[in-house]
Order: sequence, then C-alpha cells, then structure tokens
Amino acid sequence: MSKRIRIALICSLLLLIAAHSALVAQQPVRPTGVKPAPANTARTAEVLAAANEILEEVSVLRSLKTLNPVKSGVKSRSEIEEEVIRNFEELSKPEELDVIGKTMIAYGLVPKDFKYRELMIRLLTEQVAGFYRPKSKELFIADWIELNQQRLVMAHELTHALQDQHFNLRRFEDWPRGDSDREAAIHALIEGDATGTMYNYQLKPMKTDITRLPNISIFADQTLMQAEKDGQKVFLSAPSAIRESLIFPYVYGVSFVQELVKKKGWDGVSRAFSDLPQSTEQILHFDKYASSEQPIKVRLTDFASFLGSGWKRLDTDINGEFGYFLILREFLETGEARKAAAGWGGDQSTLYENTRTGQLLLAHLSVWDSATDADEFFQAYARRTLKRYPQSRARKDLPANERNFQTPDGGTLIQLRDKSVLIIEGLPAEMDERSTKLSDSLWKQF
Ligand SMILES: [Zn+2]
Repeated sequence: MSKRIRIALICSLLLLIAAHSALVAQQPVRPTGVKPAPANTARTAEVLAAANEILEEVSVLRSLKTLNPVKSGVKSRSEIEEEVIRNFEELSKPEELDVIGKTMIAYGLVPKDFKYRELMIRLLTEQVAGFYRPKSKELFIADWIELNQQRLVMAHELTHALQDQHFNLRRFEDWPRGDSDREAAIHALIEGDATGTMYNYQLKPMKTDITRLPNISIFADQTLMQAEKDGQKVFLSAPSAIRESLIFPYVYGVSFVQELVKKKGWDGVSRAFSDLPQSTEQILHFDKYASSEQPIKVRLTDFASFLGSGWKRLDTDINGEFGYFLILREFLETGEARKAAAGWGGDQSTLYENTRTGQLLLAHLSVWDSATDADEFFQAYARRTLKRYPQSRARKDLPANERNFQTPDGGTLIQLRDKSVLIIEGLPAEMDERSTKLSDSLWKQF
C-alpha cells in the first residue's frame, strides 16, 4: 500500500526539516520556512563551494569515500519543478498510477473521484527541496531556500550521491511490480541513511550523533505540525494514507538506520545495501531484520473467469505490515490499527475491475505469525468494515471465524482459518450465493 510512490530521491524539505526541528528543539530555533532568495552568480558560487565542502564532511561521517566528484547545479523553482515532473513521469507509467489510484479507492483510503497522478505532481512540486538524479549523477539544489537549510538538504542529497557511487541506486528505480512492500522497505533504507547522515552533520558541532538520541520515529507527529506552520497546503489536504506513506521512509527509515548504526556502525548500513530489508515489518521492528525474519510468500489464484465476462485482474501486490496499518487506521484508532497489523507474516492483495461497469473488487489473503495474531487482525478488519460502512447489513447465521457484510460497494467476506485471513470485498450482489464457492476454491489453492 505504500504503493510505489517513486519519489525516491526527490527529497522533501518539509519532511527533513520537520524531524530536524524536533531533533534540535533545545537549540536556538532557526528559521525553517522556505524563503525566496533571488539567484545570483555570487550566491551560486557560494552554494557550489559549500556543496564541495559538505561532500567531504559527509563522506567522513558516512564512512564512504568519494569516488567521483558530484555534478551540482543551483536551480530556480520552475526549473526544479520541471525536472521533478519529468523524473516522476520517467519512473511511473500512467497506467500504473491509475492502478494505484484504483487500489486506494477500493480500500476506501481516498475519495472515489481521486486522481493519484495529479495529486502526486502537486505534492512533489510543493515539497521538493532539491534532489539527486542517479541517471545523470547530478545534484539539483533549490535556489529559493536559505543557505542554512540548503546545507542540510545538500548533506542529505550528497549522501544519496555517495550511496549511488558505492551501491548503484539505479537498480532500485525500475523495481519489479508486485511487491511494493519490499520496495517501500528499500526506499526507507535509502532515505533513512541519507536523513541519519544529515542529522549527524547537524549534530556534529554539538558533539553528539544519532546513536545518542531517543528513537527518532517518536518525532513523526512533528511533521504535521511543521506542515501547518509552513502552510504546506497540498500536503495537509492529501488523504492521510498518502501523507503517512510519504513520511514513512524518512521517519521509520531513520529510526531503522539509527538502530543499525547503534548495533553495527555505518558499515552495517552499507552492508544493508546488499542484505536488503525485505518488508516494512523489518523497518518497523528492527529485530525482525536482525534475525532475518523473511516474509511468507502468499499467492492468490487469478479468479477473473469465475467472476464472469468483463472482469479483469488489474494488479497483484503486497500490503505488508505498514500497508495493513494504513488500511486499518483509516477507520480505527491508531493504537488498535498498529496492534492488529503487528504479527504480519505475509500477504497478497489482488485488484479486479469490471471493465464495463467500472466496479472494483479486492481479494487479499494474509498469513500471521500466530493464530492469535490472525484472530486479532480478523476482528479488527470486521470492525473496520462496520466503521467504513455503518449502513451495512451483517449476516448473523455464520460461524465465529466468518463475517459477511452487504455494503453499498458490494459484499464483503472475511474468513479466518488458523493463521490466515482471506478477505474478498466488492462482490456484486448477484454473486452473493456463490461467494462461499469462490472462497473455498481460493483456500484450496492456497
Ligand atoms: Zn532523500
């Protein structure tokens, strides 16, 4: 569900600065707003000289040698916006974006007329503070940000340049479809590394570093407060699942890196680029990465032919712990959602569309660490469904491990078996009779 938000290296000033201002709360407050500063040659020369200096510093802090100089350019807002849009379009095909939008609609995370691509472009252009493009090995620095902020952004972006020189970031750009949970985890490693290094750059004059701070993810709430202060209109008006997905790689990524540095030093972070995190679960719970707890592979058979003519499978993907957290949290309390999503073992989620009517149907099968974890998720999903559709009718004649709701978007079937939970939602009314036959055959083939 973190859903291939391929902004990989277009780093958001808001997100960087929000956590940063929480980090240095005891220090004299520096201005965090984005201030227009006219570009001029002297200023550009000053910024480029700073970039060289910062690259050397960051290289030492991150224990990665500079293998090549980094091409840097100071750009105006409109130049950067153009680059950001071009980069976004290069990395994401319109039909893929369309499917992501439809999945979010089907899970009830966004309104039905939601346009994913449009929102992402508005978000990225609002948020951008600079970016590093692996394809051309180039750093773009925003000319409208004051120098102190630029230095922080450069420390972050130049870490990406060093990552690219040592670990080749281009291999992550066209990640195979079907496992955006793993993609989100890798994204969190990349951003967490760059953000952690940026913090160390910031903390160095205070003679401290991230290993001596409390878990940085506790600053997640700061991001919203900062967004309000900065008047980040697009970000504030974005659906909360999208906001959380944008924050995820920075906040949870940096706390993951913080743990990694504490236990294995920065070389441990470098090794993580070959021993990649496999799931958002491993990012959220460092011990699951340390103990190499692998996600369980789950496969749902394609049942388009069962649904009849007009139905087509559009996508298969993995929600992961973080995805399920977002899906539950949309309608339940945060603590309840967090608890129910924990204990995730693996899942597969598939989206179907009736190409004639536009109706969407979801089927997702998840496996949990224990029968208790599975039951907790099963109960939470049933409560979520009732909250999402307060007007729905629940069938009463069912065993305790089964729920069936008639909702305005179709039938929702939730079944618990041992450590697994199967959910089908959006079943057309005329299929109601056959829904058990469908779920039986999916269980059989699982
Ligand atoms: Zn970044």
